[in-house]
Amino acid sequence: MNLMSMTDNAFQLIGGRTCLDFLNTANWSKDGEVIEDKLLSDKDLALWCHAAGLQDVTGKSGRLTEILEFRGSLRGIFVATLDGTAPTKKGMAALNGALASMPSSALRVSRKKGLALSPSLTLEQAIAISAAAVLSRDLEVSRVKICPGNDCAWLFLDESKNRRRTWCSMETCGNRAKAQRHYQRKTKSAK
Ligand SMILES: [Zn+2]
Repeated sequence: MNLMSMTDNAFQLIGGRTCLDFLNTANWSKDGEVIEDKLLSDKDLALWCHAAGLQDVTGKSGRLTEILEFRGSLRGIFVATLDGTAPTKKGMAALNGALASMPSSALRVSRKKGLALSPSLTLEQAIAISAAAVLSRDLEVSRVKICPGNDCAWLFLDESKNRRRTWCSMETCGNRAKAQRHYQRKTKSAK
C-alpha cells in the first residue's frame, strides 16, 4: 500500500501541535460526544499516523477502541483546562499512565537529528509527550482555542501575532460562518 499517495489532504493538521491534531481526528459536540470520526479502522489510524509523522509508533493495530478512549480522555483534559475546571481523575490517569509507561530510552537527543523520539513508543506515549509539553506551559495553554464552528470543536494553538484566530480553518468553518452571516443579512434586508 502506498501510504504517501493516500495521505494527500486526507487529514487536516491545523492544530499546531501533534496532540491537538490527534484530538481533531473527530468532530465533537458541545458535550464532548463524537459527531463524526475520521478514525474508523486500523487503516485510518495508520494513515493519520503517517500524515502526522508518527508512522513509526508501535502497537497501533487492533487497539483502535483503546486509542479512541485515550483520545476522549485527553480531549477532556484540554477542554477542562480551557474552561478553568479540574480535569477528571480518569482523564488524568490516562495521560499520566501513558507518560509513566514510557521506556527510559524513549527520548534521545542526537546531535544529528535533534530530539528524536524512540521508534518503540506507542501512539499514546507519543501523543502524551506532545500533550505534556503543551499543558506544562502557560504560554501554550493560554493560546489553545476551540473552533466555534457548527459540529466542529477542533482545538488549535493560536500562534497568530494578535491572537485573533477564531476558526480551525478559514477554508471550512470560517467560510461557512461568513456565508451564514451573508445569508442572514440578505434574508433580513428582504423582509
Ligand atoms: Zn472548525
